[in-house]
Order: sequence, then structure tokens, then C-alpha cells
Amino acid sequence: MSLIVRALRYFADGSARTTERLAADLGLPEKQARVLRTDLVARRVLTDAGSLDVGKRGPKPQAFRLHAARGTVIVIQIGLSQVTVAACDLLGRVHSVSHEPHDRDHGPDDVIASAWQRASALAPRHQVWGVGVCIAAPVRYPEGRVARPPILRHWDMYDLRGVIARRTAQPVVVLNDARAAAYGEYLACTSRPQSLVYVKIGTGIGAGTVLNGRILHGVSGAAGDLGHTATDRSIAPEGTDDGCRCGRRGCVAAYAAGWAMARDLGFPDGPGSVTRVRDALLASDPRAQAVAARAGDVLGTALAHTVSMLNPDEVVLGGQLALPGPEGQPLLSRVRHQITQRALPLAAEAVHLRVSDLAETAVGRGIPASALGGEASRRGLVAAALDEVFNKPDLLARLLQPA
Ligand SMILES: [Zn+2]
Repeated sequence: MSLIVRALRYFADGSARTTERLAADLGLPEKQARVLRTDLVARRVLTDAGSLDVGKRGPKPQAFRLHAARGTVIVIQIGLSQVTVAACDLLGRVHSVSHEPHDRDHGPDDVIASAWQRASALAPRHQVWGVGVCIAAPVRYPEGRVARPPILRHWDMYDLRGVIARRTAQPVVVLNDARAAAYGEYLACTSRPQSLVYVKIGTGIGAGTVLNGRILHGVSGAAGDLGHTATDRSIAPEGTDDGCRCGRRGCVAAYAAGWAMARDLGFPDGPGSVTRVRDALLASDPRAQAVAARAGDVLGTALAHTVSMLNPDEVVLGGQLALPGPEGQPLLSRVRHQITQRALPLAAEAVHLRVSDLAETAVGRGIPASALGGEASRRGLVAAALDEVFNKPDLLARLLQPA
């Protein structure tokens, strides 16, 4: 099975490749690569992708690609006000999806029961390979238990993984949403960086890190989560309310989270307040730009520490308030300035800072956070669920029985 897993990972980017390429890239003798390819076609893992122009004279060789519809991964994304359930193919593409609002002031049991009912309707049970779940809250890893969420307080200590694992025989992976998005961003990078730090600027501040192709979890699942670390007081202007939703004072989120920016702009607290901040930025409102610049200073100072410690090649900002283009510059330019000023020069010079180009940041006025979806976290969850499947040779052998 280990060779099959290597081939599955190799074809997981969706590209069409010839048997010759497969042999060269996996370091196999060509005869062994042909046997492997024949086996994978018989197991309906690979499918004929037609003939490929490899720039040589003579007949064009036949190419193969992953048969993405061979299995389904169920993805459940629990946001602050909405639960999205999607059935995805093996490349992370959605083939059916359903959204439902949820009330953050109510407990999780009904939310999960409803989400699972919807998931069961989206894909037949025999087709499902694994389940990936993310939530906008800290999650103990690998247990998948929610741990002291600053906003979804009714979910504290909820055994999210256990509750879902009791409903399915397939592997279930539960991640914090920013961590899942970090993995998705990493996989979407064509340059395949060595390491990537992702920060989600939405209602709250989330963050995740991928090192050498793997999500950095830390011992309990908290690695790199900088939203509730203490702000440098020299950056935070005096007289500003620094109370944080986690109950402490002076956290990064107390200035840079969407709810804090909404507070500083005098918008009433509520489901639409972060969308109002976004709309003000899109309208180039100078007050909103000043608040975003200060958020950028606070976030950039925290990220400068991360950049010095991890020396990543990519730092990606995503979420509803990380805007691409000129509207995103007030925040992005201050993050860049603080990293340049405060991180070790060797690390600061090497890092590529950018706004995500996945769908979370789709530009447009009046788009509520819930409608922006979570493309990065969805991609990350599909890959994380498949990683679990690939680590279980018996399960994989069952799933891949030849027709
Ligand atoms: Zn806090």
C-alpha cells in the first residue's frame, strides 16, 4: 500500500502525467511504474487523460490523472454564525454543498445533529472516505475537543471529533479553522514553499503554520495561534479599549480582530458589524483605513516574532478583512513595515507577505462573511482527512478494491 499512497499523493495536485514521468518522479524502474499504473487503473484510482504532448517526435504517450470522483470527503465548517456542509471529491472540489445559520448563543448538539443529517444526504455512505471538520475555536489536537473558545463559548470542552466519529466508520479529523486554511493555502501554492504562516482576519484572529508540508500543531494544538498573545504596549495607542473577548486585556485580537475594528469605528456589535468594516474599507473611508492601519501595526508586530522564530518563506493574510488590491494596503503595508522593522533582517528579507488569492477574500461590497465561504480551509480539511485515510493501510485496501 505504501507505493499506492505515494502515487496517490503524487497525483493529488490533479495533473496528468505519463508512466515515464511517474517512474522518474517516484524513482521507480519503468517496469515497476507500469505495473503500478496498471494496478491503479484497475482500482479506478487513475483514469485515462488522453495523449500528452511531451515535446518529442513520434506518437504522443498516454497520460493518466487521479480519478477524483473515486471517493468523497465530507467537510463540515463551523463558523461563528453558519455551518457549511460539503461533499468534495479527492481533489477538494465541491460537488454538493449546503449552508445553515447557527446561533452562537446555543449549544452544539443540535448543530451537529443537523449538520450530520445534511452530510448524509449529500453523499452515499459507501462513497465516503473520510470526514474533515473545522471550527472557529481552539481545538485540542489530535483529540478534536474544543478548548476555551473566546467567542463560541457554549462549545467549550465539546468532544467534536468523538461526537462525529460515533456516526461514521471512516476517519474524522477536527482542526481549528485557521489551521485548516493554512494547510489549504500551502497546498494551493504552486511554488511549494518549505513553510507558510497563515493569519485569518475575520471576526476574530486565527493563525496556522505549515512546516515542511505538515501542519504545526504543537503538543496540544495551539502552535502559532497569535490572536490572544499580548500586544506590544508601545504600539497600542493610549486610551483605546483593550478589553478582549477572551477575558484578558491587550491581546492582538483586541485591536486587530474584526469585532475590535467594528468597536473602534462605533459600529454596533452584531452579525453584520464586520461586513460594515469591510464595506468601509472598500469605500476607502479614512477612519476605517486608520483603524485597519493600527490593526496592521499590532498584527505585524506579533508576526515579526513569528517570522524571526520560524523563518517562513510565505506569510499569507486571509479572511474577510484581508482585502486584495489598494483597499487592503492600509493594513498590509503596516504589517509589512512592522515585520521589516522588528524581525531579524535575515528572516524579514526572505519572507514573502501577501493576501490570499483564494475565495475568502473575493472583493465586493455588502458580501457577508458567511457568503465568502472557506475555500482554503475546505481544501486543507480534504487533504487532512485523506492524510488520515492514507495512514490506515487496511482501510485504504478496502476502499481501493479493484472492480
Ligand atoms: Zn484575547
